[in-house]
Amino acid sequence: MADLVQLGKSDVRVFPIALGTNAVGGHNLYPNLDEEQGKDVVRKAIDNGITLLDTAYIYGPERSEELVGQVVQEYPREQVQIATKGSHVIKDNDDVIQNNDPDYLKQQVENSLKRLQVDYIDLYYIHFPDENTPKDKAVAALKELKDEGKIKAIGVSNFSLEQLKEANKDGYVDVVQLEYNLLHRENEDVMAYAAENDITFIPYFPLASGILAGKYEENQTFDDHRAPRRDFQPEVFNDNVRRVKQLQSIAEAHNTSIANVVLAFYLTRPALDVVIPGAKRAEQVVENIEAANIQLTDDELKKIDELFPIE
Ligand code: NAP
Repeated sequence: MADLVQLGKSDVRVFPIALGTNAVGGHNLYPNLDEEQGKDVVRKAIDNGITLLDTAYIYGPERSEELVGQVVQEYPREQVQIATKGSHVIKDNDDVIQNNDPDYLKQQVENSLKRLQVDYIDLYYIHFPDENTPKDKAVAALKELKDEGKIKAIGVSNFSLEQLKEANKDGYVDVVQLEYNLLHRENEDVMAYAAENDITFIPYFPLASGILAGKYEENQTFDDHRAPRRDFQPEVFNDNVRRVKQLQSIAEAHNTSIANVVLAFYLTRPALDVVIPGAKRAEQVVENIEAANIQLTDDELKKIDELFPIE
């Protein structure tokens, strides 16, 4: 088993393969989710050595936190770390806005603690920046909660490099979570800053919502949150599928899946010590855990770099 890794400057240590849980109760993202199946995915993850569960208020909304919280009650608290996120405000007319106001964030943390049925959260992220709140002031609110023991590590998500620098003025940010995967390597500049400043970089959509798992065929269509995204538009999608298939020989050389080759590649990047692939089925989780044990050769890393250049 791989060693646990530290999140930023915090005392939180996690297994490098974590579980993204937006498909656990994330009814607003995926239609027809089975909640019991979602809870089984979480149990399977913990039973097989995953320690960090990544959820958010907006997944459901609320329901992902509730289901994750229910499963966490079945285990010793210290065996599991929970990451959750807040900043969304759902208005009466269902419009959604972002709010990073210190009082709002503190209230959101209290609400998450209740839904999760825990007395501390291991990693709390500001999910999205808002337009008005100075980023260091928003993070200072989380630092107060950290000093009170309500959260153990501070994260920001969907912040640009400039916003991250402002957020980290006092050096309090432990984790930055951004979209990053082989199809979208734009955020490598943030990774460099993270590496220099003891911040852990956690990529979301690591498998490009399934494309990088290597299981899709050309011309497949989708009826969930993926349908409008650029990567899923027919021409781009088919090109992606063709490139991903070229990873098959590397997967075979390691007797593993394409998904694991992709996850293992990420873990060679600076500051990128943890991945949070999502899963809808328990077998996927068990398979993804193996990625922690795969050591890609320099030639393989080079081939992957060439197939998926930074654009
Ligand atoms: P992802 O990890 O890129 O892709 C997950 C999908 O890949 C699964 O639903 C499954 O697709 C497929 N998959 C996973 N393992 C597989 C395997 N071994 N074999 C075959 N297919 C496999 O996308 P994601 O779940 O949307 O993102 C990961 C996590 O990032 C989320 O759960 C969430 O916690 C976080 N996130 C954060 C933000 C943010 O704003 N901070 C935004 C998005 C996501 P099928 O559906 O086809 O089974």
